[in-house]
Amino acid sequence: MTRIEAMTTDAILEAEARYIVQTYKRAPVVFTRGEGVNLYDQGGKRYLDFASGIAVTALGHSHPVWLEAVISQAGELTHVSNLFHTVPHVELARALVENSFADRVFFSNSGSEANEAAFKFTRRWAERRHGEGKTEVVAFVGGFHGRTLGALSLTHKQKYRRPFQPIVPGVSFTPFNDLDAAGQVINDRTCAVFVEPIQGEGGVHSADPAFFQGLRQLCDQHGALLVFDEVQCGLGRTGWLWAHQAYGVTPDLMTLAKPLAGGLPIGVTLMTEAVAAAISAGDHGSTFGAGPLVCSAALAVFNQINQPALLSEVTAKGEAMRQGLQALPTDRIVEVRGAGLLIGVEFEHPVEPIIRAALERGLVVINAGENILRICPPLIIGYNEIEAGLDILSECMTAIEQAV
Ligand code: PMP
Repeated sequence: MTRIEAMTTDAILEAEARYIVQTYKRAPVVFTRGEGVNLYDQGGKRYLDFASGIAVTALGHSHPVWLEAVISQAGELTHVSNLFHTVPHVELARALVENSFADRVFFSNSGSEANEAAFKFTRRWAERRHGEGKTEVVAFVGGFHGRTLGALSLTHKQKYRRPFQPIVPGVSFTPFNDLDAAGQVINDRTCAVFVEPIQGEGGVHSADPAFFQGLRQLCDQHGALLVFDEVQCGLGRTGWLWAHQAYGVTPDLMTLAKPLAGGLPIGVTLMTEAVAAAISAGDHGSTFGAGPLVCSAALAVFNQINQPALLSEVTAKGEAMRQGLQALPTDRIVEVRGAGLLIGVEFEHPVEPIIRAALERGLVVINAGENILRICPPLIIGYNEIEAGLDILSECMTAIEQAV
């Protein structure tokens, strides 16, 4: 049998179509290597990475500090299960707690799992604190929290939900950024409100400050827990360590995942002591969660990102990127929005042709909905690389306008 590595790109695409469950429409590229903000395909072609594997590789590819953490920890200890203690586990937990609103954390392996845990913990808290009947959850139109059944039931998009009914009951959806509407659905039976400070998959929509502050008040008024999903917008991506810091509002729980371990799988559910106190041994668990390898990688990433200089650079670079995007040679842009280096460019038309044209020219960009281009490069991107990517996007605009 031919080794996969020795196969041509076409043969690999064929094998993918033959052996893999077709849950994804993949672009026809086989990446073999990454370094900094560059990716390389099988033929050695270089691509600028404006996507970070969907807002994951915040330090870029093969960052030396991350690499050193992974290699040295892999040589020491990778897995022992949660039946025992390890050093990286508590080091990472301490770093997250000491640098956030939270008092305690629970580790899992993905954003969906972090939200599953948050969902269970809020129900557990309500049951302990209030007895039966306080089980309802409120989430938002356009929100995305994952695709496992609990997380899916918090996710708004009908296309993702409908084929899998019945999913977890008790969740209602209300329009994002509409405080009056939220006030109609949050009541004394509500145990939790799940919200993204910036809706990522939903098209890069930021919460209005008054809406966010109002949600906190509604939760306090009705004794409900406020859960911020910062899986995509958290950990430096907006120029703040946590996206919610821009709002001056703190949650009762927060979920993290994507960038934290630099591309290795991790999920974290952070919470206040009041919530944690309601959780007992056996209420939740994870075989892989909190392993020393992933926690070492995550601690390295966290320490790199949790630096004022890096965070203010993200804000400045985001501004430069947004200005460049505004100036693209097209009049079909509806809006450029977002914060820091999580940017959405809404077009009047589907962005798929732009994504394809960019890839051909060596730029990786992704969408967030049919008409919205999502720009989320590694946070360590340089100004010259921002400019190079914008140049490619300019070429794409011109080529697409000419083709119409
Ligand atoms: N929450 C948000 C805000 C996300 O953007 C995502 C992933 N796009 C998830 C949850 C789910 O994360 P995962 O794919 O790691 O399960």
